[in-house]
Order: sequence, then C-alpha cells, then structure tokens
Amino acid sequence: MGRFVPQPGIMDIALYVGGKAKLDGVTNVIKLSSNENPFGPSDAVKEAVARSAHDLHRYPSTDHADLRRAIAETHGLDADRIICGVGSDEVLQFLAQAYAGPGDEVIYTEHGFSMYRIIALAAGATPVSVPERGRVVDIDAILSACTERTKLVYLTNPGNPTSTMIGLSEVERLAEGLPKQAILVLDGAYAEYVDGYDGGAKLVEMRDNVVMTRTFSKIYGLGGMRVGWGYAPREVIDVLNRVRQPFNLSNTALAAAEAAVRDTAYLEYCRKENARLRHWLAEALGEHGVPCDTSMTNFVLARFADRAEAEACDDFLQKQGILVRRVAGYGLPNFLRITVGDEASCRRVAHCIGLFKAGER
Ligand code: PMP
Repeated sequence: MGRFVPQPGIMDIALYVGGKAKLDGVTNVIKLSSNENPFGPSDAVKEAVARSAHDLHRYPSTDHADLRRAIAETHGLDADRIICGVGSDEVLQFLAQAYAGPGDEVIYTEHGFSMYRIIALAAGATPVSVPERGRVVDIDAILSACTERTKLVYLTNPGNPTSTMIGLSEVERLAEGLPKQAILVLDGAYAEYVDGYDGGAKLVEMRDNVVMTRTFSKIYGLGGMRVGWGYAPREVIDVLNRVRQPFNLSNTALAAAEAAVRDTAYLEYCRKENARLRHWLAEALGEHGVPCDTSMTNFVLARFADRAEAEACDDFLQKQGILVRRVAGYGLPNFLRITVGDEASCRRVAHCIGLFKAGER
C-alpha cells in the first residue's frame, strides 16, 4: 500500500481495457471492436457541431433544457424526467454514487457490461454478479440474489456482449419482484436497433422503481462526443441532479446530440442498414462454421470451438488489419464480438474468417 490510502474497494477495480483503435504499422484498420456506427453522425449533426464553434467561449447550459426537450418530443416522454450525462456511463455512475455505498449490494449479470462492477466498487458498494443461462439473462436467478442490502440492479437489454434480448414481460416480472429499496436500471444502449422497442420507457412510466439509460454513442454515431441520457421517476431525477456537475456536457456535445435526436430519418436509415448487414454477416459466418446467436444489436457474438481458436482467429484478423473484440473478460472465452460495419467491412471480415477456418493462419 502506498502513502495515500484509497477508499475500500478502489484497488479492486481493474483498469478498463477498451477495444483497440490502432494496429502497429497498419494504416487502413477496419475497426469492428467497439460497436460504433460505421456511417458516423448525420450531416445535420456535423453542421450543428460546426455552428457550436461560435459558442466555445461560453459556458454550456446547466440544465440541458434544449436537448431534454428534443429527446422528450422525439420519444414522447416527459422532459422533466430526463437527465443527461457524459455518455450513459455517467448516468449509470450517478445512480451508484447517489444510491449505493458501503454495505450495499449492486447486482448485474454474468455477461453484463463491465462498467457496472467498476461503478459499484467506485461507490464503495459490493458488486454481485448473477449467472445467466446459456447467454440469456435469468430473471429468477436475479430475484434470488436480491437481499435487503440490494440497492441497484443493472440490466442491459438487448445485452452486450451477448446481443440477445429478453421480453418486456420478463423485465416487468423483475421490476415487480425486486425488494422495496432496489431500483432496476434498464440499460438501453442498443435499444434503437430493435424495431419498435422503447428501451423500457413505458415501464419507467408505469412503475416507480425503474430507470432507463440510453446513449448517443451507438446508432447516432457519436461515440466520440460522449452523450447519454436517463429517464427516471421524478424523485430519482431530483436526487441524480444533485450529484451531477452543472457543466457536465459541452456546448458542442449538446448541439450534436440535439441535432442527432431530431434527425429521425437518418436513424431509420442506420437501423435498416444495420439489420440488413447484420443478417448478411451472421449468415456468412455461419456458412464458415462460426455460428452466431440471434443478434438484436449492431454486433454479433461469433462462437469458436474453444478459447485457443477464438484467440488464434483474433490474431489472424489483426494481421489482416481487422480489429474485433475478445470477450473472455465477460466470461465468454470462446467467442469474438464483431461489430456490424459497412458493407465492405462486413465482407472483408467474413472473408478473412473463412480463410482462417479453411486453415490459413
Ligand atoms: N451500456 C452498454 C451496455 C454499453 O455497451 C455501453 C458502451 N459500450 C455503455 C453502456 C456506455 O456507453 P456510453 O457511455 O458511450 O453512452
């Protein structure tokens, strides 16, 4: 232990390892490792970003009123129940910071998003990982893991890195069965990829113990801008706004997100293209002997014979200038997570996996 002693739990946090962005000596990397939108943001967003340069000397809005109104109008929600953060990561963190501390438990699922554990430990709370069943969330297992100390349950739907989705009635059953002091946090980072799915917004309206989080990093193509939002009961919003820094989002980030949420035609285009290319990619990989679970997201979870084969394939892809994601850290050692890229990237990754399966190394 060094001279300055951190709070309990902090040194249990493993430093976050994100998807690689670069490969030594390769100029045209095909990056399929972070579930980004290969088409980037719309032209309307780029214009809004350029316009925001005129305001760089001004502090940004503290209440995000314009962005919240744009989100509320587009999604048919109540603007007063929306909170915006630096990515949905920050909204997820506000929840732990405000509601979970030493002695409290924070539940998430076996293959759940890695930030849940980090956020719980950073708040001084105890992280509790609950097993899934065949890469699908097990609601009964979550309910049995709940105690009088459970404060938060984080659930991604559809899941990352599983790509699978559980039905709204199952989610409702979970919300219904939670202990009185616990909040269900429905992480809808990939909700827009599911046709007709509201990410759990209706459930938030119906119940007082559910919060939904969403992001601009995926379908809106704004991973580099860092904007996310949450929809919650008024009581929770009031609490979260007390831990939120007043100037957490920049003028540029606010302008980009507002333009993005209003550009519903572009969203629809990205949703359709993703569905078409995802279907093609999953089929192509299947034909090469690499099956994928039915994905509801912008990535597929590709299954290999064992960990050694998955890692060898990843090494081979890197040699071809392609980055995908190993998910051993999520308890899925014999899988690779592959983002659905543009058509050329999908064709290239499928072709290279075909070569690998045919014996080229
Ligand atoms: N939840 C899930 C399930 C994710 O996959 C991600 C991004 N990888 C996030 C939340 C956080 O996204 P952001 O902070 O970029 O909004």
